[in-house]
Amino acid sequence: MRVLEKAPAKINLSLDVLHKRKDGYHEVQMIMTTIDLADHIELTELEENEIRIMSHNRFVPDDHRNLAYQAAKVLKERYNIQKGVSISITKSIPVAAGLAGGSSDAAATLRGLNRLWNLGLTLHELAEIGAAIGSDVSFCIYGGTAIATGRGEKIQLIDPPPHCWVILAKPTIGVSTADVYRNLNLKSVAHPNVDAMVQAIKDKSYTGICENLGNVLEDVTLKMYPEVAMIKDQMKRFGADAVLMSGSGPTVFGFVQYESKIHRVYNGLRGFCDQVFAVRMLGDCQDLD
Ligand code: ATP
Repeated sequence: MRVLEKAPAKINLSLDVLHKRKDGYHEVQMIMTTIDLADHIELTELEENEIRIMSHNRFVPDDHRNLAYQAAKVLKERYNIQKGVSISITKSIPVAAGLAGGSSDAAATLRGLNRLWNLGLTLHELAEIGAAIGSDVSFCIYGGTAIATGRGEKIQLIDPPPHCWVILAKPTIGVSTADVYRNLNLKSVAHPNVDAMVQAIKDKSYTGICENLGNVLEDVTLKMYPEVAMIKDQMKRFGADAVLMSGSGPTVFGFVQYESKIHRVYNGLRGFCDQVFAVRMLGDCQDLD
């Protein structure tokens, strides 16, 4: 028996950090949405009672450190599953990029194993299990568009933004999320207007979405890695309507409303950046199928 699952990347349309909590986590308020750039997960039953990872990517661990492995382990232990599974991960999402690739692989593994092992769990139950693996896993269980609060695991689904094109460019540096948070000074940063973004999405206003893009972590990462600022400038210069860094970076994304503009922005960036993608915004939970 074999199950296939799509694991799409997310971008943050708005990312605010409210304060540091007593448990060490940061209290956040984010708007996340899925885009049509996805890893693919294939789950196959094994004779042996073990979890096997095939990642085919030198930056992705093929052992217990893989978030998909951790997802399978949590389900196996919680529901006392005495069966083995082979998890094959075909990566398209750049690694350590601020696009939640590992979290989405873990979420897809949870959704897929729920089917493979006939567990009958709801998405809500899977999201709760996912929260123990990583803060972004809960959102990735649902996909679509959502307001995420708490440490990112409390999910309120909202309507999708209007469709547009998303150009992504990832510089060849890796960014440590922990370092970015360590350098974040909440007193001196500009906080995005999350409510204004929610309203713009509700109004289906492409202009409103472009005007209200904001990420409190952006200035921190830009100071640490000037190449991210350079990519932002270039993306704007080549004609993107609005540009922002996703998560803690280093991936920068830009919006383009009309297909005719994509090639100029894409080709311009390809001149000095290896990993450039032009994809559609998904935005809707049903698009996961
Ligand atoms: P986020 O946006 O949630 O902060 P990210 O996009 O910045 O995540 P990931 O691509 O998830 O980062 O990778 C972060 C680290 O997790 C990598 O350095 C990698 O070693 C490890 N990792 C574990 N499992 C996976 C996986 N399935 N895919 C990618 N990376 C993984």
